[in-house]
Amino acid sequence: MEKVTEIFGSMVFNDSVMEALLPKQTYKALQSTIKQGKRLDAELASVVANAMKDWAIEKGATHYTHWFQPMTGVTAEKHDSFITPKDGGKIIMEFSGKELMQGESDASSFPSGGLRATFEARGYTAWDATSYAFIKEKVLYIPTVFCSYGGEALDQKTALLRSMEVISKQAVRILRLFGNETVQAVRTTVGAEQEYFLVDRELWNQRKDLIYTGRTLFGCRAPKGQELDDHYFGSIKQRVQKFMTELNEELWKLGVLAKTEHNEAAPAQHELAPIFSSTNIASDHNQLTMELMQKIAKRHGMICLLHEKPFAGVNGSGKHNNWSLSTDTGINLLDPGDTPYENAQFLLFLAAVVKAVDDYQDLIRISVASAGNDHRLGANEAPPAIMSIFLGTDLENVIDAVIEDKSFDGSQKEMLRLGVHTLPKLPKDTTDRNRTSPMAFTGNKFELRSLGSADSISCCNTVLNTAVADSLMQFADLLEKADDFEAQLHDLVKQTFIDHKRIIFNGDGYDEAWVKEAKERGLMNLKTTPDAIAHLLDEKNVKLFEKHNVYNRAELESRHEVRLDTYSKIIHIEALTMLDMANKDILPAMSRFTGKLADTIAKKKAVGLNCEYEMKTSEKISKELDLMYNAVVKLEEDEKKWNSISDLVKLGDFCRDVIIPDMNEIRLHSDNMEMVAEQKEWPYPSYGKLLFGVR
Ligand code: ADP
Ligand code: MG
Repeated sequence: MEKVTEIFGSMVFNDSVMEALLPKQTYKALQSTIKQGKRLDAELASVVANAMKDWAIEKGATHYTHWFQPMTGVTAEKHDSFITPKDGGKIIMEFSGKELMQGESDASSFPSGGLRATFEARGYTAWDATSYAFIKEKVLYIPTVFCSYGGEALDQKTALLRSMEVISKQAVRILRLFGNETVQAVRTTVGAEQEYFLVDRELWNQRKDLIYTGRTLFGCRAPKGQELDDHYFGSIKQRVQKFMTELNEELWKLGVLAKTEHNEAAPAQHELAPIFSSTNIASDHNQLTMELMQKIAKRHGMICLLHEKPFAGVNGSGKHNNWSLSTDTGINLLDPGDTPYENAQFLLFLAAVVKAVDDYQDLIRISVASAGNDHRLGANEAPPAIMSIFLGTDLENVIDAVIEDKSFDGSQKEMLRLGVHTLPKLPKDTTDRNRTSPMAFTGNKFELRSLGSADSISCCNTVLNTAVADSLMQFADLLEKADDFEAQLHDLVKQTFIDHKRIIFNGDGYDEAWVKEAKERGLMNLKTTPDAIAHLLDEKNVKLFEKHNVYNRAELESRHEVRLDTYSKIIHIEALTMLDMANKDILPAMSRFTGKLADTIAKKKAVGLNCEYEMKTSEKISKELDLMYNAVVKLEEDEKKWNSISDLVKLGDFCRDVIIPDMNEIRLHSDNMEMVAEQKEWPYPSYGKLLFGVR
């Protein structure tokens, strides 16, 4: 392997490449346009495009693509080659400024949730110059946003970029109040820890459920699961290690800061964590990470499962979204700092997050809602569906001191005054970490732990950024008018913590008692995706996004539609897959097996032998077989109603209330049979093989 320092970013048209390859004036002009978030002028674009093309061709690229994130949650691309015909049957390689800046894309096959109907059929992609272009498999990738010709966002990234601008503006206002005149911009930073499973490709190939739905719809538990905790941080198997090595190398080439890799709690489960970066880059990089994980796993005879719950009975996969705010001068605004003034500023930003999470619990919950994630949230392996914040005892003591106007430690007699007294040093270690909390403060950042492993990180960060920006805006409006800044600041922080203390919870989020307590506190408990999505268009939520120009009403309505549509389609596909497996494989196999047992019983009886095993087993399986068959008939009947429900809200509810319980019933009886049936009679590889099959 070449040196990491040499391969890192070698396929990225990054800042140092631009500096080296662009004329000085162009480079400067490009930098300032990017910084100010302005549009590139045509002349500049053509110089940049030309340099980009020459660089790409030298690296072996033949094509380019505008790369974007439609509302499907995965990325989209369409390759165009650089070739342009020339006289005499020859070609030249060309790439114009216009081709760099904007592409036209037939939007009709991407979900638009009604936006296309209302506006225009076509969509266009536009270069997001804040994210570097890169080369992957001989194609130059240009990160873009994807909009309708009316300007409505058809993708996930446009709103994310808008939300980053909004929070930057409001955070800078706050910093000015603290006397900071140098900071020009504040960016949100994210490090997204990605969990995934690896299974053997041959075994995967034998399971229709994994192929069609990404998760097992059947499967009784293996004799061994994760109870011994021997997989967690255990030594990594050779085949997996080879995969990880190649993955790291490929990611490094693309400038992705892949940092740590380890085994996770469940057998066959692993995690990759990058070093954090600016949120939109982190979002692009997480998409690349997921894509490369899947591609590279195949090269090693494995399949990477990104589904939130591939296996019942062992932990599912999430994506921890570590989130913070950082100034363009490199200061982390969620770091408590050392001086009283820094402390006060920190507490104000902390209060902004606490208020935001309380005010917009529903939006954060919605941002992580998906059919797959419904299996995790609240299942005692991931945070509950109830949103809350964990701050740790030290920080909570500080907040109590602020609220009660007393000193934060026994030694200090006078009350804690923000901007005057220094906070006690907050430990930044991991021992105090609450793993059951949906949103844990971890010393200098928040870790949103509810996000599902397959989801894009764009949505939850758009919500976090916008909600926190709104708190900051309200704070700035108030403080800018204050006569006595320090007094007003103190009152504001105190009042905010009093008003929103209910969202702070340091206890065990898995405990049943919390569900009751949360209810008493008036917190929302949106258990399933349809329950959550129902609140997306609540007036307060529409107002929030419209006020900050992150989404307009039409864009939100489209997301409401797409999210519900996706949810019910996923359940529909799962139901059909289940019926297929039941009817074509499981029921016939078990019928055959009981037939064999009956033959044996007849033969044994004829010679006067006991047949207790055969009798008991065939009785048990026959009983379960009938029950399963009845459940299959019920699901078939209910699936017929599917097409008659055109209202998406009703369809979502129907899936949750009818289809999913039907599926659970089928699975129950199938798993009961698998538990006792002869292994070679069972039509699919077992959980044991899938979970422990990669050697
Ligand atoms: P651990 O969770 O193992 O203690 P860290 O706390 O260092 O490790 O980081 C976990 C994740 O959080 C990493 O992806 C890291 O890059 C990210 N992270 C660390 N600091 C920040 C920050 N200021 N903003 C966003 N993400 C961060
Ligand atoms: Mg973590």
